[in-house]
Amino acid sequence: MRTLLIFLLAISVNLNITYSQASHNNLQITNIANEGFLLESSTHKVLIDALFSDGYGAFPVPPKEVTDKIMNSTAPFDNISLYLLTHYHKDHCDPILINEYLSKYKNIPFVTSKPSIVFIDGTCFGFIGKKKQFKIITPEINHSISETIQSIPVQVIGLKHLSFYRDSIDLEETMFNVSFLFEMDGIKIFHSGDIELNAIQDYISKNNKLVDSVDVAFLYYNLLKSGESDLDYILKTINPKYIVLMHIPPGKNEEWSKKAELLKKKFPNIMFFKNSMDSITVTI
Ligand SMILES: [Zn+2]
Repeated sequence: MRTLLIFLLAISVNLNITYSQASHNNLQITNIANEGFLLESSTHKVLIDALFSDGYGAFPVPPKEVTDKIMNSTAPFDNISLYLLTHYHKDHCDPILINEYLSKYKNIPFVTSKPSIVFIDGTCFGFIGKKKQFKIITPEINHSISETIQSIPVQVIGLKHLSFYRDSIDLEETMFNVSFLFEMDGIKIFHSGDIELNAIQDYISKNNKLVDSVDVAFLYYNLLKSGESDLDYILKTINPKYIVLMHIPPGKNEEWSKKAELLKKKFPNIMFFKNSMDSITVTI
């Protein structure tokens, strides 16, 4: 039923795009896979964590035909304003695809942190030769840096990548994640990357607040793992109008469908996508 609904929504959205311009307060969200999305407002299109081909055997990967569409700039992946990357784990970043994409589309700025640039450069010798195309923004953890790029205000926020402990060592200690807060035609979007609640708590303990409010918050799914108490915290600290959960392993889709239904009783505008190219338009 849910799939059918999303399918029907996708059809109506496609018609909308074909025959009329997106209205000023609409944001079209197209799922690529994992934390990868195409976002379209009335005058901008942004790709985030879009080009990757490895899900570590656990996480969703874009079908090859979707990656081909992105690489060939085939609609809806044409006229991209910005390409954002949260971090360089393989389920977010394929260096070879990103290198090739930026070579093809030299007018698309690539916004990410220095560690991601170093990682891609290590795989693709000469990548740094494209540096005129890069916006390398590297805040320290619990700091942020703001810049307007292609008339899109972007705040890059250093939030600690979620931890994964083995033998009491955090195997993600050196992985550097940034979250993005950006504004597309007045619509405020937050994309967390891979973080858990402690990262937000740490940031707020040092900066008093994370954001005033956002329209659409893209959240790593475990930010809501404890259910209503986590949701309360997110509503208090991020104050979103819509929440899109992301990075849900396909094996946990059913579990999270049930969790989302419960959370919707308190906050109806929670969603997540199961299939690549599922698409929805939200009105702000
Ligand atoms: Zn990661």
